[in-house]
Amino acid sequence: MPVHESEAIILQSYPLGEADRIVSFFSRGAGRLRGVAKGARRTKSRFGSTLERLSHIRIWYYERETRDLVRINQSELIESFMVAHADYDTSVAFSLFSEISEMVLPEREPLDAPFRLLLLVSKAIKQSVKPAVPLAYFCLWTLKLAGWLPSLDHCCLCGRNIAAEPGFVAPALEGVACAKCKPASSRMMPKETLTLAQRMLFEKLDQLMQANLPSLAVHELTAHLLDWIEWHGEKHLKSRELWEPTN
Ligand SMILES: [Zn+2]
Repeated sequence: MPVHESEAIILQSYPLGEADRIVSFFSRGAGRLRGVAKGARRTKSRFGSTLERLSHIRIWYYERETRDLVRINQSELIESFMVAHADYDTSVAFSLFSEISEMVLPEREPLDAPFRLLLLVSKAIKQSVKPAVPLAYFCLWTLKLAGWLPSLDHCCLCGRNIAAEPGFVAPALEGVACAKCKPASSRMMPKETLTLAQRMLFEKLDQLMQANLPSLAVHELTAHLLDWIEWHGEKHLKSRELWEPTN
């Protein structure tokens, strides 16, 4: 059986029996995979702390015929994000990154842009310990890369340009509607929130983090983006209930 080698990011890892772990990982070369790491729970394991959530690693694994789970042979740490798990908001943002990635990334499909996005936001949070802007950026770009981001400056029902006015969103609406077309159950998305989303599509994350963005608009945007992710993914994000950012 040929051994595959790839750069990877750990998405989740669960105990299996007394000594092993089941690991979900995003391989740069092969996409999202699940595998068994034998002996990973033993104190003197050769995996060490490489299988922690969002660890950036080099991984060696082989496929087993007729089994969905690959067998993980070995892993080496490239960069750990463990230190960032110590802060509550940061740790919740990391949970959202892994939960959203599990929901959105197709299995066994190598995708370089989502891989780079996940690394970029994790590094930004590790350096700044300020997760709000990276989380909004991650949600926006995840929607964009999945092809799920609606037009933010045109009404999704009549097509009119709404760049200079607030938009309206509702669960069943595949985009943002204008004031005339909005369904009865819709919520307003202020112009400031829409402008911020546009800005996040054109500016680099480090510029955005230095720009002193209004935190209320960032949180409001994140809430709308998470709604869209849940709607497209047809699933509730469990870590979302824990997200109460303070900065
Ligand atoms: Zn309209």
